[in-house]
Amino acid sequence: MNSFNSEALFVERFKETTSDMYGRDFEDTSNVERYLALGNMIREYANSNWKATKNAVKKHQTKQLYYFSMEFLMGRLLTNNLMNLGIYDTVCEGLKELGMDINDLEEIESDAGLGNGGLGRLAACFMDSLASLNYAGNGNCIRYHYGLFKQKIENDEQVEMPDCWLKYGNVWEVWKPYHGVRVKFGGYVDGYINEQGKFVTFHHPDFVVRAVPYDEPIIGYHTKTTNTLRLWDAEVDEDTAPTGNLNKYLDDVTALTANVYPDDSTPEGKELRLKQEYFFVCAGLSQIIESHLRVYPSLDNLPEKVAIQLNDTHPVLVIPELMRILCDEYDYEWDDAWKIVKGTVAYTNHTVMAEALEKWSQETVQKLLPRIYMIIEEIDRRWKFEVDHLGLCAIYPNVAVLREGQVHMANLAIVGSHSVNGVAKLHSKILVDDVFKDFVTIEPSLFNNKTNGITHRRWLMYCNPQLTSLLEDTIGDEFKTDPEKLQDLMAYVEDPVLQQKFMDVKKQRKQILADYIKKTMNIDVNVNSIFDCQSKRLHAYKRQLLNIFNVMNIYMHMKEDPNYRIYPRTFFFSAKAAPSYYLAKEIIKLINIVADRVNNDPETNEFLKVVFIPNYSVSVAEILIPAADVSEQISTAGKEASGTGNMKYMMNGALTLGTLDGANVEIVDQVGEENAEIFGLHVEDINHLKHEQAYHSWDYYRSHDEIRRVIDSLRNGYWTKDPDAFRLIYNDVLTQGDEFFVLADFGGYSRAQTHVEARYRDTNNWARTMLINIAKSGYFSSDRTIEEYASQIWNLDKIVF
Ligand SMILES: *Cc1c(COP(=O)(O)O)cnc(C)c1O
Repeated sequence: MNSFNSEALFVERFKETTSDMYGRDFEDTSNVERYLALGNMIREYANSNWKATKNAVKKHQTKQLYYFSMEFLMGRLLTNNLMNLGIYDTVCEGLKELGMDINDLEEIESDAGLGNGGLGRLAACFMDSLASLNYAGNGNCIRYHYGLFKQKIENDEQVEMPDCWLKYGNVWEVWKPYHGVRVKFGGYVDGYINEQGKFVTFHHPDFVVRAVPYDEPIIGYHTKTTNTLRLWDAEVDEDTAPTGNLNKYLDDVTALTANVYPDDSTPEGKELRLKQEYFFVCAGLSQIIESHLRVYPSLDNLPEKVAIQLNDTHPVLVIPELMRILCDEYDYEWDDAWKIVKGTVAYTNHTVMAEALEKWSQETVQKLLPRIYMIIEEIDRRWKFEVDHLGLCAIYPNVAVLREGQVHMANLAIVGSHSVNGVAKLHSKILVDDVFKDFVTIEPSLFNNKTNGITHRRWLMYCNPQLTSLLEDTIGDEFKTDPEKLQDLMAYVEDPVLQQKFMDVKKQRKQILADYIKKTMNIDVNVNSIFDCQSKRLHAYKRQLLNIFNVMNIYMHMKEDPNYRIYPRTFFFSAKAAPSYYLAKEIIKLINIVADRVNNDPETNEFLKVVFIPNYSVSVAEILIPAADVSEQISTAGKEASGTGNMKYMMNGALTLGTLDGANVEIVDQVGEENAEIFGLHVEDINHLKHEQAYHSWDYYRSHDEIRRVIDSLRNGYWTKDPDAFRLIYNDVLTQGDEFFVLADFGGYSRAQTHVEARYRDTNNWARTMLINIAKSGYFSSDRTIEEYASQIWNLDKIVF
């Protein structure tokens, strides 16, 4: 009988398991030991469904998806798994009986932060939706030994600390050392013509590692479906370890899976990153091929049984690697192999910023991956031939895979895929109209949109049980399995009683955040103030600068004019900067210096506070987002591909204060213009200004007193004695022309903030607007996104048990 059938049984088994695992009385075990024991029990419990899922897929020959992503930002899984298994209450009550609080065990789990931000969190949300919707969808990534750095703030500046997420091991993973795969790097390739007249190549690598998988069950919500997230670790290959310099070899193996690259979007020339990319691609594909051939006689039907989605270009080597396998190992002719590759692979683009499109020097790729490089050359040669043949040689430079000494990874991805999608309507339109327009002339049907989503299970049900229970009381619980049913709330948005209850829930959540801030930062915040939140990676285009400039302006205005006071407001920021991104780090410093001043000024601090919450991560987001009144989504129009933070905030009842960018556009489509606060330049305005070279930030500085006051304060000692402290910021917005139109949008933003305040003063109408936002947020569940991918790109059927 399963250990979770009843509270009493759970208590008994839990004590027994813990005691058995550690060889001591339950009473003498630590919370860490109890956490690990509980994790083990849950994984074991999930095992029967895991097996059932694998068997069902095999039996019905269900098509499987493999989601290749360099990043998975999973966060904690204990409560998520308990809820999805439907045993949360049993465990909670059982622990209570033992005098324990489940929160104490939850806190022990480390936040699995194997990624930078939105892209990695999207992968995690997709895994949850795939399993919950009964699709066979597996994740493929690297088992980094350290997550993205942990951020501390010292003397107002970001300090990067190691993120040892494996400190107590990882209870969810299962090590499969017998499924190791060899991955080969470097060396050279030679070849000869064999008896059949076929050119046969042979790779003599100079570095070989064994990739070893660790599998984690991905448990669907109230369903048997349990998928696999496979993380590959690198181990020494005993048989091919080089003679000679052994220690260097050991170091190189260790380095391969040591950490997540903390660069959010800028390409850097670190070969190790390219090695990581090939490492998990090669290992992942090898396993796919092997398990396919266990069921089917050949690889001819690969596209019918396997879909591979590339989450951005990081895993794009799937394309040449699969060609290599088909041609070199299974003797396929090029054209037949190419059909199989194209039929199997699809690519998701995540950025329109040219500098963020991944490129590698041809030299590096050739040196590190000589056989793969040869295949890329052949792909490029044939592609050029095809383009020439269409009479389009003029556009070739824009669609080339190899050009000016570089491998253009996005172009490789497009050429080798049967689908290319953007992640919000506006973003997909920009891809088609602008970034990839030359590809569109060749193959328009390739391009499509799949607007991102977030799992409402984590971002509503799990992180906000107070709101979830209010929704249940109002519209029942259908929305849990069918998030579009949140629409039912529309019938009640005018109800003043519900409006008040919503405000009460929001207040509770603000108190939880306030307690966290008090405990971790010793700052008092007023839960009756407006909680205004901007949490996301720190990047110039996301314009945290616009937000803090407005805060500086409000403060200076209040100091100058004792009659000017705002409705009490707390501005929350949370953001990590890439360690080498100096401008971003200076912005963090500015926010913290402004916070120090403003929070400690008794003349103004009843009205204005600024809190920079360190170490933005899934766990921080889960506390911050439910407490938000205002969701700051203020990127320069045309720059944010989609955003998913915006969706999380909306679902938790916050007003979007945003530009018409990314998925904000679709949020407005859903809620109506009157239920969001939109400001700023549109994409067309920005394109026009750029095209005409008509934007001069100096003009705004000269003609706008408030802007001038704010900018001058960066250098005149107002905030800090060091006149150089904010030189990068000053130069960025003035001497370097303000690439992201911060000064141009300042006036509109500041007015929009005034409107937000006026809205908030009208409590009932505010609550009504928030209820409408929640009601319309079902569209942004990743369940909707996954259904679209499944039917339009992957062609998946649901698992039948
Ligand atoms: C959702 C999320 C993001 C993405 O936020 P955006 O506002 O869409 O950039 C980044 N980091 C974490 C931890 C998240 O949960």
